[in-house]
Amino acid sequence: MISFNDSREARDLTERAEALMEEVVLPRERELTGGTTISEGTVTDLREAAREYGVYCPQIGEEHGGMGVDFRDALPVFEQAGRSLLGPVAMQIDAPDEGNMHLLELQGNDLQKEQYLDPLVAGNVKSAFSMTEPMQGAGSDPKMIRTTAERDGDEWVIDGHKWYTTQGLRADFLLVFARTDLDAHPYEACSVFIVPAEANGVEIVRNIPHLGSELVGKGHAEIKYNDVRVPEEHLLGTEGMGFKHVQERLGPARLTHCMRFSGMAERALDITVAYLSEREGFGSSLADKQDPRHRIAQHYAQIGAARSLVRTAADRIAAGHEARIEVSMAKVFAANVTQAAIDDALQFCGANGMTRDLPIADFYETVRQFRIVDGADEVHKRTIARAAFENPDSAELDPIVTYDK
Ligand SMILES: Cc1cc2nc3c(=O)[nH]c(=O)nc-3n(C[C@H](O)[C@H](O)[C@H](O)COP(=O)(O)OP(=O)(O)OC[C@H]3O[C@@H](n4cnc5c(N)ncnc54)[C@H](O)[C@@H]3O)c2cc1C
Repeated sequence: MISFNDSREARDLTERAEALMEEVVLPRERELTGGTTISEGTVTDLREAAREYGVYCPQIGEEHGGMGVDFRDALPVFEQAGRSLLGPVAMQIDAPDEGNMHLLELQGNDLQKEQYLDPLVAGNVKSAFSMTEPMQGAGSDPKMIRTTAERDGDEWVIDGHKWYTTQGLRADFLLVFARTDLDAHPYEACSVFIVPAEANGVEIVRNIPHLGSELVGKGHAEIKYNDVRVPEEHLLGTEGMGFKHVQERLGPARLTHCMRFSGMAERALDITVAYLSEREGFGSSLADKQDPRHRIAQHYAQIGAARSLVRTAADRIAAGHEARIEVSMAKVFAANVTQAAIDDALQFCGANGMTRDLPIADFYETVRQFRIVDGADEVHKRTIARAAFENPDSAELDPIVTYDK
């Protein structure tokens, strides 16, 4: 609805993504009603189509099989893709693979890129990101990390217990966050490792039963790493710089999440407008009732505002800043407004909203996680509040305060 200041390249790409969604992805989504999970064959077909439409993995360099589109220009494609749970899978821009590709591209050496990034981009393998731990371990406060990696000759020995590792059940390799120095402050003591799923000691405990649609069905694994040995070359990036590397992954990944969810919310509203326009009650069209009209108008406005915040944060990242405050603002705002929009969409579609004839029930189940995953609301508000209340000259608290100077 709103025309943002996106580049010509971004708009061309978005038009192609929109065509793929309308002509291929949404018709396929309609065939899959009733709580089923997509087959690998469907994934292959959708990805083939995304390649034909010129929107396959736009954000990764051409030398690795992507399209080499600048991150800022690729962002609107995530909005389009988010209009169906199948869109990001088709375009190979779904979590967690998308964030992992980004980190491998930034921090991987040539061999790691060849062995892990290139097949991931091609869609030949799957990946997972294993950071969160059960009680007493890393969660909202990742400094509480308990998983360790100890050097033994030319190997690393990883020992720990993780959970909520999305796609961990099916991943060919996992990026595991572990403490490599017990004496240093956690910010200088952690590292990221590439762990092949078949390595000895990787124990999948269970697929955690959870709230959420099974249409894409990646699952969330509880995993034990029991003295898992990986060669030295499986260290990703620099030893002790894990927090910095994870931040490099999470900042952009949070923004791409915002964009996907904003597409989902907008589609839910579009469906609702169509439903209300056809449905009559109490002597007139439901589209004429003031309450739904005002609430839908408010949701479209808030989604537009969320998209603006995301673009502002992305511009700051493109200019070489960490943009922690802007990312937190975009993330907490987008998570709440998309959830509110989808909740009202379900309400205004009545019983239809509860069925799996429409995608809204899947959206409703999926969007709830967004206020917890990639940093809970309260944690992002804490980040913003620290910038507002504490030392304005601190480098970590840099952004909003320095704008005013
Ligand atoms: C669908 C889904 C997918 C996920 N995928 C992955 C994955 O692939 N890999 C991975 O490593 N992790 C993953 N996670 C885990 C996710 O990153 C964590 O759930 C998140 O970081 C929060 O940690 P926690 O669950 O341990 O919450 P806790 O740290 O136990 O916090 C519980 C609640 O306390 C409140 N809270 C916490 N800190 C504060 C504070 N400072 N002030 C006020 N309130 C606070 C918040 O409401 C928070 O939700 C996933 C989670 C979900 C739901």
